[in-house]
Amino acid sequence: MSLPTISEILQSSRAPTLSLEFYPPKDALGFGVLGSSIERMRPVHPDFVTGTYGAGGSTRDNSFAVWELLGRMGFTPVVAHLTCVGAARSDLLAQIDRIYDAGIRNIMALRGDPPRGEACFVPPEDGLAHAADLVALIKSRHPDICCGVAGYPETHPESRSPEEDIHFLKQKVEAGAQFINTQLFFDNRVFFRFEKACREAGITVPILPGLMPAASPTQLRRSVELSCATIPQDLVDGLENAPTSAMAREFGMQWLVDQIDGLIAGGAAGVHLYILNQAKTILDPNLAACLARWRAPSPVKSNIQPERTCI
Ligand code: FAD
Repeated sequence: MSLPTISEILQSSRAPTLSLEFYPPKDALGFGVLGSSIERMRPVHPDFVTGTYGAGGSTRDNSFAVWELLGRMGFTPVVAHLTCVGAARSDLLAQIDRIYDAGIRNIMALRGDPPRGEACFVPPEDGLAHAADLVALIKSRHPDICCGVAGYPETHPESRSPEEDIHFLKQKVEAGAQFINTQLFFDNRVFFRFEKACREAGITVPILPGLMPAASPTQLRRSVELSCATIPQDLVDGLENAPTSAMAREFGMQWLVDQIDGLIAGGAAGVHLYILNQAKTILDPNLAACLARWRAPSPVKSNIQPERTCI
């Protein structure tokens, strides 16, 4: 039995969707820990999950291992992330075929970042310069693969203006992308402004807001370094002034819950959570109660498929 694609899920879902992002651990020990975490997360029944893609050779094999693990443990459908970094067109085609042969029918098509210390992304010889080119390559190779792409509510750092960034986002959709997952943000107003600008520019595909819980000032700073998201002063103050680390964590979780409630009330198609492989985040009672407020009751939503051809 084949699974629905993300596009089909987004079109047919009566409630906003919940998706979770995972990243590949470095070693066998990390995979063991991740397996136990996924086991604990089973009751959550995300509508779909995504697994990120690393820059190096062994990291890439670990990405395949994560997608396989998620599928094996019933967290499906799986979205495989793929980047253009360090790959000629022929390498990318080989990776796309490998993903397809593994039964995966959803790819998050990304350009990837320049290597640390370099300001510009320089495609390798016969490689691709932009994510839109990767979307086109994937769709020409396997038209039945559903492609997602990245969107930046606070504008991609290399862009000259929000308008230019949205113009290039539209090119990704015109190349065949069927949904957009956003970079993380901590202020819903930036998402709603971005969504409005996308709609005014003629982008009609679903836009899923990406959110990350802020558990401590250190973790917040690290995630902001990677994402360039603006941090509201109230969030910084709340985390820094919390008397204990447990209370800081609680404050960060409440911030996330308020963001989710506000996004759903504002009509978001779903939420995509960067949970950093942590079961304790998604199982937090406050977050669980928030998700239960707007998600459909779950028996039919169980994604565990006894016989699968796709993950
Ligand atoms: P693009 O869409 O190609 O855009 C990059 C920049 O180029 C933007 O400034 C854009 O406006 C501009 N641009 C686009 N097209 C053109 C054009 N034709 N001419 C001129 N300029 C253009 N990285 C990983 O390594 N692995 C992952 O798994 C991963 N997952 C991610 C998931 C999400 C949801 C997000 C938001 C990011 C993720 N990233 C990941 C990071 C991503 O690779 C970087 O943000 C990267 O810098 C840009 O990738 P992109 O796909 O948005 O690129």
